[in-house]
Amino acid sequence: MPWWCAGGGDEFVVVVSTEGFVEAGAVTLLRASFARLQTVVRFGDTDIDVRCSGGAAVWPSDSRDFHEVLQLADLALYKAKSRGKSRLQFYDTDILNERHKVLALRERLRAALRDGELSLYWQPQVDVEHGYVPSAEALIRWTDRETGRIVPPSEFIPAAEASDLIIEIDNFVIEEAVRTAAKWATVWQYPPIAAVNVSAMHFQRREFVGQIRDILRRHNLSPDQLELEITEGVILGNNTEVTRNLKGLEALGVHIALDDFGTGYSNIAYLSQLKPDRLKIDQTFIASLSGSCQMESLVSAIIGIGKAINCEVVAEGVETVDQLEQVQNLGCTLVQGYHFAKPMPDEAFQTWRDDNYPDAVASVKHLRRLGNRLASAMGDAGRVRDRDVP
Ligand code: C2E
Ligand code: MG
Ligand code: MG
Repeated sequence: MPWWCAGGGDEFVVVVSTEGFVEAGAVTLLRASFARLQTVVRFGDTDIDVRCSGGAAVWPSDSRDFHEVLQLADLALYKAKSRGKSRLQFYDTDILNERHKVLALRERLRAALRDGELSLYWQPQVDVEHGYVPSAEALIRWTDRETGRIVPPSEFIPAAEASDLIIEIDNFVIEEAVRTAAKWATVWQYPPIAAVNVSAMHFQRREFVGQIRDILRRHNLSPDQLELEITEGVILGNNTEVTRNLKGLEALGVHIALDDFGTGYSNIAYLSQLKPDRLKIDQTFIASLSGSCQMESLVSAIIGIGKAINCEVVAEGVETVDQLEQVQNLGCTLVQGYHFAKPMPDEAFQTWRDDNYPDAVASVKHLRRLGNRLASAMGDAGRVRDRDVP
């Protein structure tokens, strides 16, 4: 049975002729070859665990055109990768339908961005030790004009992330967040830091730091009023461009938070070099806290990591008083979740903050909080407790 093999980058194509050979046999052969590719290769003193994903399409049942068969195999590969590591996926018509849906969604999203249907909601992060709102996270929403529905990001960010469209969306979000934070600085004396989610793709871009500097300058916002949230995937692999960007942002004075911490594969040694300002414990840990000693130990360990590298830890997704008490008992005093407030438009957020954590009392708390951060960086001796200050 003739084989033909070609490739480039980290992908290659194998063509197996089924002439005089039943199709089912070729499928079995492909599965067996795929299994053989998943192996451990010894390289010097290191064992390398080789993993691969595969997509397959069959001529002539899927298409009679060779180039189209290649495209369909590529679609199947895309699907295999999206389902997780080490999968072999055969093409079926559902995959094509899904692909068409994603492309249609992306076009509607492009139009939504152009027509002003995207906006930011804000969710406060509360320092429960000092009763103060040091920061708020910007969360994108899409108000679909056709249906009037507010579409959550989980329904459109993944489609945008698979293309350059995510860069345009991130640019809109950063610009809008900085503009809003600059407005807060004129309304409040102690405005919260604006925290913005930035996609992994953006951190690979050479011009990223310069772009952030320009936006801050244009809106006259101090860099320490902006925080960029990245996921563990961004720092995975210690990529040179990402490291350069992170260092550039640190030099600029912008805060960095590691979002959904605990769900990825952080390299702890690299983490201590990176020195993020915040770790955000993923909400799935908080949701499983009650009654689970194991989960409590895990959350406690994450809080310990944060303390060890001297960064603040935020508990995300705190919905109940029980959860709040639990995270506080474990030593985490920065909290975000429905227990305090759901994400809301800027106007509602300003009213919420004025009603619950007025700026007039923020000054003392702000200074006390800064004092404590400084003290914890120097050791515990200089710590100012609530009861020590009137
Ligand atoms: P994230 O950055 O981890 O944001 C936290 C998510 O948890 C938000 O969902 C928020 O509404 C939700 N949340 C907060 N408190 C609670 C709670 O107590 N209970 C529950 N069940 N959920 C809570 P949202 O707004 O749907 O955003 C989902 C994800 O979409 C975000 O996760 C982030 O990864 C992404 N995202 C949101 N806005 C943007 C954006 O502007 N740009 C990019 N690139 N990604 C974004
Ligand atoms: Mg986030
Ligand atoms: Mg998160």
